[in-house]
Amino acid sequence: MFRPVLNQLKRVSLTAWIFIGIILGILSGIMLGETIIPVAEIIGGLFLRLLTMVIIPLIFTSITSGVLGIGTSKNLGRLGLKTMAYYVASSLIAILTGLLLVNIIKPGVGAELGLTTDVNTSDITAGGLGDILYRIVPNNLISSMANGEILPIIFFCLILGAFISKLNDRHRILMTDFFNAGFEVMMSITHFIIWFAPLGVFGLIAKVTATTGLEVFRSLGWYFLTVLAALFWHYLINLPILVIALSKENPLKHFKNMGIALITAFTTSSSSATLPLTLECAEKNAGISNKISSFVLPLGATVNMDGTALYECVAVMFIAQVYGIELNFAAQFTVVITALLASIGAAGIPMAGLVMMSIVLKAVGLPLEGIGLILAVDRILDMIRTSTNVWSDSCGALIIAKSEGEINNPAVSS
Ligand code: ASP
Repeated sequence: MFRPVLNQLKRVSLTAWIFIGIILGILSGIMLGETIIPVAEIIGGLFLRLLTMVIIPLIFTSITSGVLGIGTSKNLGRLGLKTMAYYVASSLIAILTGLLLVNIIKPGVGAELGLTTDVNTSDITAGGLGDILYRIVPNNLISSMANGEILPIIFFCLILGAFISKLNDRHRILMTDFFNAGFEVMMSITHFIIWFAPLGVFGLIAKVTATTGLEVFRSLGWYFLTVLAALFWHYLINLPILVIALSKENPLKHFKNMGIALITAFTTSSSSATLPLTLECAEKNAGISNKISSFVLPLGATVNMDGTALYECVAVMFIAQVYGIELNFAAQFTVVITALLASIGAAGIPMAGLVMMSIVLKAVGLPLEGIGLILAVDRILDMIRTSTNVWSDSCGALIIAKSEGEINNPAVSS
């Protein structure tokens, strides 16, 4: 009697299960309120832990094997240049989209926020611009790994890969096999973890729904809508245009292929935690070669954050409007450049963008207390900007893979 039902259930795709998880999460968050939080926290937390568990070994093996796959330093240089050009260009387009909308909508003009919102700004230290560069070079690789600092690991792996490729044949082949095999096993573990996504997503969404009241949207409504509109514009118009113009691929198909990673980014608010799934979707569904995805995606998860860059710009402009401070052209230019740098420096973890905003605020002389004004709606915006970040990474990987002739016959997406 149960068999037909079981067979029916087996036919439901993983993506559909994840959507069911989201809907059940929202419903139980609304209906059960705070009582769901302890259970939701454990379920969502376990899923996040499973994902973060594989990040460091995955990055370590994927970047090193990626560099080894790329071969000569000339190829690596060309790929590096293309990747950085895409990251900077897409982030700048995102920021300008945000800047345009915030100047048209002016959500902060006349907003009644009663500037008493208190936030302990002594905790918000993102460091200066020099610190961003400083964070790239590790002085202790093991401590960087233990602290989940991805940029120093990427830096080390780029060097490691480059120098392995210079070894004599015997050692080079040994090391290459080692890293390729390591990468393969990390991907298999990721493939296994993916099956817990519907449950994890349920827990994460239930918690957010139970903790975020509708009240916050009343005073910050216009600000929220401005960021949302700009993010959607970038997500649905700018990036698909880039995909069509630069790769001649179908963005809708790519969107479907990346579906699981995009939903996971949305629910976890972490590009880094999503990275294992981004790699999995890019390779298995979109057919992007391991050589390209293992180089472009881990780097993108920490460096390329279109959603965050756009959000920094809109939020800072909003704060200036609320305080009644007119930012002239030069100041807005400073916002654009520092928003770009802040997004590059932001870690792929929840609320990193909010912390990095102090750099942009400082650069144009705005009070750091401004961050307190937008805190209330940050969780939801973080979900959407993180999905935008991962979507941009995947579009970049597709464009670069196409330009290098590195797209294999994609498997059928789940
Ligand atoms: N949560 C974002 C990410 O992981 C960063 C941010 O806070 O904007 O991509």
